[in-house]
Amino acid sequence: MSFPTINAERLLSDLTHLGQIGADPRGSLYRVAGSAADLAGRDWIDKTMRVAGLHTWRDEIGNVFSRRTDSEGPWLLIGSHADTVPGGGHLDGAYGVIAAMEVLRTLHEANHPAADYLETVAFYDEEGVTLQSNGGLVGSTALSENPHVQELMGYLELHVEQGPRMERAELDLSAVTGIVGVRRYLVEIDGQENHAGTTPFELRADAGRVATRFGALVRDVCRNIDATSIGNVGSIVLEPNAPNVVPGRATVQVEVRAGSEKALDGIEALLGEELQRIASEEKCTAGLRTTSAKPVAEFDTRLVDTVEQVCVRNSERFERMLSYAGHDASVMSTKVPTAMIFVPSTGGYSHSNLEHTPDEQLVLGTQALLESVVAVVNLMLATDVSERHSLAA
Ligand SMILES: [Zn+2]
Repeated sequence: MSFPTINAERLLSDLTHLGQIGADPRGSLYRVAGSAADLAGRDWIDKTMRVAGLHTWRDEIGNVFSRRTDSEGPWLLIGSHADTVPGGGHLDGAYGVIAAMEVLRTLHEANHPAADYLETVAFYDEEGVTLQSNGGLVGSTALSENPHVQELMGYLELHVEQGPRMERAELDLSAVTGIVGVRRYLVEIDGQENHAGTTPFELRADAGRVATRFGALVRDVCRNIDATSIGNVGSIVLEPNAPNVVPGRATVQVEVRAGSEKALDGIEALLGEELQRIASEEKCTAGLRTTSAKPVAEFDTRLVDTVEQVCVRNSERFERMLSYAGHDASVMSTKVPTAMIFVPSTGGYSHSNLEHTPDEQLVLGTQALLESVVAVVNLMLATDVSERHSLAA
């Protein structure tokens, strides 16, 4: 099969252009959702696609869409988010949006049959910077609740990795198999406050010692249960927090991420056991409470396989991987067959003006997106309508 080739020059110059909207002199972006710069960015996306002869529109929340004027669907949606964190980089979100625009324009200009089944999106407010956006993913959540989602045959998102794994493994492309689930815990430990000089070690009920012993174990527990999981002890608070007082109370905040609910359950159970063991050894009492739990997003295996075939054809420096950061694709995957493609992040930097990916990899990723689009459209059109969405399970 031969494919149209994306216009690399247009891709890179559009990335530069969007990267100037909301930029400060150091190149840090302030295109926070709802800001004047964010509105200007989405206006520019809209206008660029209209100038290319495509039909554009916005939904109530402010997501910007485009497709061919005479296309009747169902559509494969491609895109990412248009907003940034304060002081963000020019690739997070923007790369997936611009690449989607490039893919639709290339297929439209080539009059390729897949162009009639394609729709692009620039999602509103993925980052969730402001209080009212309640943790982000605002635009994709709104779309997932809109009847239009039923007219979609799937969702593909191209994104920069935002971490160092791909660069360290010398990869060009990754097919993302899913997005980690995230659980947060509050650990509360009670002991007995006492004089830190006169109380012998063996007579203490030292809540601080339980907190630090437990905190040091979190890594081992994660590694023990699932080598791809990761955890963090982000806060330890001791009371009364003074050098000459044995802490009578301690609270610890722990976050854990893993690619399966089974691994998350295993880590949670083992954390609970270890906490009880350490607390009783230290003559304290302790409890572990879940404060939030974001489920694992598992992408559609047929779409992931299709993306993998395309990527491998374009570069042998390829691996499947799990995403440790959240994306609009996690919301979309609850409604339609979904997959993602990653390109490396130089130095692993993201949410920073140091965000960078070599041009060749930006171009390669966009071409892989185009070829994935053609393959997924063909796959879905060959699949019975009743089975299209069931692929998501
Ligand atoms: Zn992003």
